[in-house]
Amino acid sequence: MTRALIVGGGIGGLATALLLSRQGVEVDLVERQDRVEALGSGITLIGAALRALDRLGVYEECVANGFGVTDFETYAADGTLDSRFPLPSPVGCDQPGLLGMMRPVLHRVLLNRAAAEGTTVRTATAPVRFEQDADRVTVGFTTGETGAYDLVVGADGFRSTVRDMVFGPVKPDFLGQGILRVVLPRPAEVTAEVQFHTVGDVFIGFTPTAADSMYMYITFPVEKGYRPGRAELVELARGRVAPFGGIAARIRDDIKAPEQINYTTFETLLVPAPWHRGRVVLMGDAAHCPTPHLGAGAAMCLEDAIVLGESLAATPVLGEALSAYGERRHPRCAFVVDTGNLLSHWQTHPGTPGADHQRVIAEAFEKLAGPF
Ligand SMILES: Cc1cc2nc3c(=O)[nH]c(=O)nc-3n(C[C@H](O)[C@H](O)[C@H](O)COP(=O)(O)OP(=O)(O)OC[C@H]3O[C@@H](n4cnc5c(N)ncnc54)[C@H](O)[C@@H]3O)c2cc1C
Repeated sequence: MTRALIVGGGIGGLATALLLSRQGVEVDLVERQDRVEALGSGITLIGAALRALDRLGVYEECVANGFGVTDFETYAADGTLDSRFPLPSPVGCDQPGLLGMMRPVLHRVLLNRAAAEGTTVRTATAPVRFEQDADRVTVGFTTGETGAYDLVVGADGFRSTVRDMVFGPVKPDFLGQGILRVVLPRPAEVTAEVQFHTVGDVFIGFTPTAADSMYMYITFPVEKGYRPGRAELVELARGRVAPFGGIAARIRDDIKAPEQINYTTFETLLVPAPWHRGRVVLMGDAAHCPTPHLGAGAAMCLEDAIVLGESLAATPVLGEALSAYGERRHPRCAFVVDTGNLLSHWQTHPGTPGADHQRVIAEAFEKLAGPF
């Protein structure tokens, strides 16, 4: 295989571009936005993501530009410490088990490394047409240009147009849960991944992202179509945090401006296997979009990139490589989607018989720390 097109400059597309370029493939990456950039919020990278970043060769740079976390702490609603346990690192016993980062920083690290490996990046460009024959895919772009490729990777996220154009419609699940992510100054006391026990159906947590910053996440049930106005965001976030004490009470007045806050709802999807049609393959959120309850979305994107690279290197027969990739990835990604859906259901339906968040999360982390 000599030429690949990657559609989408998110975590998945950038990681795939980096790896395929390193494997000697001529890679074009197109991003429909004017710049390859991410929402200015934070991201929690679990051990599986750190292991994958290490395999991509960007682990040290990420750790140097994020906040390495070695412990997980849980708090009662009044702010009393309930438990603290160490997070094992898959990278090395002297390394963090989790990394908090600002999303734009992670993007910059991946973009710079992909470009250094030889990826050509074109922004403000999207595909409008795919024509496949036995030897190639011809792609028409919004710019009026066309290109011929051996492989097209649809890494264009939850609302993937590659998926719509090549695979047909896939119905997402709306979970009835919304999330506010708030960028805040980091108080010195927040050095761990912090989560509070839910108060009713509201759940909050904190991830440090740098020496001077952290982000808070607040989840709560919402009706379909609910979208708070910009002017409501500060009061909404402060109101949801109000029942919580301790750290949560101490940072409440730091929620000051709508620019600090991002709101979205949880919608998930899982494309049935196989994840390829001819020479077009899906990866990342385009193929499997989980809720963030396990903090595993980025890990799954990064692992997809690694497995796709390994599968392509293992056989010159493209169809065999893409089948091997999908067969290896589907069960693990389905597990992340299903587990996130279950945790979301339990949070929005307090008192569900048999609900046991801590057990399910602990078992999931153990599974995700295992081989992929
Ligand atoms: C609220 C929330 C919180 C989350 N928190 C975490 C977390 O803490 N930890 C974690 O690991 N995961 C988290 N996730 C999940 C994680 O963000 C995603 O799994 C991951 O970003 C998906 O990356 P991606 O590259 O597949 O897609 P995306 O990040 O969606 O990137 C797709 C890119 O493709 C571009 N694009 C779209 N269509 C086209 C087109 N037609 N042509 C060209 N370009 C196109 C888009 O502009 C975008 O740049 C969270 C998700 C949500 C919703």
